[in-house]
Amino acid sequence: MGWTDERVETLKKLWIEGLSASQIAKQLGGVTRNAVIGKVHRLGLAGRATPSRPAKRPRPVSRPRLASSSSSSAAARPRMAPAPYLALVPHLEPLKAEDGSVTTVLTLSDSVCKWPIGDPTDATFAFCGRSSTGTYCPDHASLAFQPQQPRKKRTYGEPDELRRMMRLSAM
Ligand SMILES: [Zn+2]
Repeated sequence: MGWTDERVETLKKLWIEGLSASQIAKQLGGVTRNAVIGKVHRLGLAGRATPSRPAKRPRPVSRPRLASSSSSSAAARPRMAPAPYLALVPHLEPLKAEDGSVTTVLTLSDSVCKWPIGDPTDATFAFCGRSSTGTYCPDHASLAFQPQQPRKKRTYGEPDELRRMMRLSAM
């Protein structure tokens, strides 16, 4: 039996009502369940939610490529992240003298910035070394005393912590 307009309308109606393909085939008569499924596909009705064909199956959502690539690089960044106080001053590196030396515990003096840069346990650790009239150069003073970063200021910016670090690295 072929698909007359009337039978196609019946098929559509039954399908939309939620009958299964085999139920529809039985109602129409003369067609197999597979024929009903094939017709449903050709009519573009296949998206209906049915127990045998759940519409909620996980579908790969096409994400914007920019977002996925930036999120993967963002995921890689934390592993590379330096110590927290370095992240505070990404634009300042230890001042290098003409011979390439930096300010260390041994060369630290009252007239230079005592802002620690780097990991104290690492050989590259140094102090800022820029000339200063107080504890820090103007740049680091502004960072150390930013009111919105009280925790970081306490942890890394205060002379007591510096003295402790200097004792540790002098050992
Ligand atoms: Zn400084």
